[in-house]
Amino acid sequence: MSHLLLLFSVVLAGAGAGACNGPDSGPTPSPPPTASTTASTTPVTIPVQPFSGELSIDAPPTDVLVMTSPVDVSGRAPAAAGGVAVTAAGTSVAATQTGEAWQAQVTLANGLNEVVARQNTLSSAILLTLGRGIGQQPPQRFRLAWEEGVDDELRAIARGTLDHPTNANVEAFVVGVRQLVPLVVLRAFEGFAVTEADSDGPDVHTISLLPNRGSIFGQSPEDCGSRTPRQTTEVWVGTYREEMVQSFDAWRPMQKTDSLPTRIEDVAEALGRTSAHEMGHSLGLVGSSLGAPCGWMRGCDGGHNCSALGEQFPAISNRFDFGRYIMDPGQRTSNHARIAEPLDGARASVRTPSVFNPFNRGYLGVVHPTP
Ligand SMILES: [Zn+2]
Repeated sequence: MSHLLLLFSVVLAGAGAGACNGPDSGPTPSPPPTASTTASTTPVTIPVQPFSGELSIDAPPTDVLVMTSPVDVSGRAPAAAGGVAVTAAGTSVAATQTGEAWQAQVTLANGLNEVVARQNTLSSAILLTLGRGIGQQPPQRFRLAWEEGVDDELRAIARGTLDHPTNANVEAFVVGVRQLVPLVVLRAFEGFAVTEADSDGPDVHTISLLPNRGSIFGQSPEDCGSRTPRQTTEVWVGTYREEMVQSFDAWRPMQKTDSLPTRIEDVAEALGRTSAHEMGHSLGLVGSSLGAPCGWMRGCDGGHNCSALGEQFPAISNRFDFGRYIMDPGQRTSNHARIAEPLDGARASVRTPSVFNPFNRGYLGVVHPTP
């Protein structure tokens, strides 16, 4: 039991940092200026990063969602090298520049915009998406329903992926996974008005964990704008059992000599990630041309983060990362990302759970903002 308590405390401690822990979850923000602890009339000096000498767009960050236009865009450029012009939606405006700092206000078209700053032969670009047709919805609640037969699938995962577990260990595995999965879901939606409910209700999304097995890990109805709160996600635990037991080598860095708490965490991360992914669809991610009216989100591969967008804008798109982002397409999600391991070769010292990418977080912040 002490192992489990330790495990739960580790997961809970990690919950606060899950959204910004990953190496690919977005640019690392600059540390805030150190505040003086003594009252003083001395002006606080905010440290400024040394200017690189290149033309840059520093704000907004690339590939985020904005809901209003025009938008303030700012950056830095070599002083006295000529004016900076910023182009968006086919219109170019002159930036105002003070020393190295420039800023401009640009008008966006609905949907995806490439915003380009130019100064002589230098250029810098970002992507901005102007969203439409979505707005704040009431807070979303969810509940987990562990359906009949699913515990036997969990037992089979424990027996099939651990060396000779005792019956007591197998039962502890079931209890541990069932306790951890909701924490994984909550961690994924931390920062948004998405909370766990004790029972069903008109505002409750049900995540149904089923013994089913097949060609999918889960499914749920797409709901652009998250207009229907009471929907049902299916998570097919039988598929995980079949994949993990029969293709165990494909789940490295899992080893059969792993400890019970390690395997509990592996499986809870995988089931919780799929739960968050499927509920994400039912909160409206990721709209695609097939799923109008949210086609402006540019999802693809069946309503997922679109790797093709990254190929079109390799330096400035930040949506797809082989499963490190929760709404990446299932067929392009690595198994080690499902169990929150950054690599398949060896265990990392800390887990790196998948996160919603910045664009998807922008969307969730519109439809389910924290009060
Ligand atoms: Zn999906």
